[in-house]
Amino acid sequence: MDITPKGKIRCPKDATIMEKLGVGSGEHALEVDHCARCGAIWFDPYELEQTIKAKDAGASMEELDFGKAKHSYEQTMYRSGDKHCPRDNTVLIEIPDPRQPHVMIDLCRTCGGVLLDAGELKDLSEFTLAERVKGFFRRKA
Ligand SMILES: [Zn+2]
Ligand SMILES: [Zn+2]
Repeated sequence: MDITPKGKIRCPKDATIMEKLGVGSGEHALEVDHCARCGAIWFDPYELEQTIKAKDAGASMEELDFGKAKHSYEQTMYRSGDKHCPRDNTVLIEIPDPRQPHVMIDLCRTCGGVLLDAGELKDLSEFTLAERVKGFFRRKA
């Protein structure tokens, strides 16, 4: 097994080393981890909040979420429980969006990180996603 470069994480779906992608500008600028192979994007809890702020401030998500929502062989091969948090190795749980049941958010219960498949960021309203994640932690608390 090859070594993951310092500061990089591997895609929970296909183990590809994820590349940093810039989002937004100015005070809301940040980098998220993006998988060039399947288009998945990993957000740390802080990053998700910042991305939502950047989107609210008018940043285009097109440049970030350029993948088309598609069913690659990775997506059909892997089932819930097969994906692990790239930070702490916790098994990710899937949360379906009630209004858009085709959108499944993978959430880490340990660190609050979220994995989105290609196309999901555009698909989901930022409000819905943030509320889903917050609601989950409220219920657990
Ligand atoms: Zn991937
Ligand atoms: Zn985690």
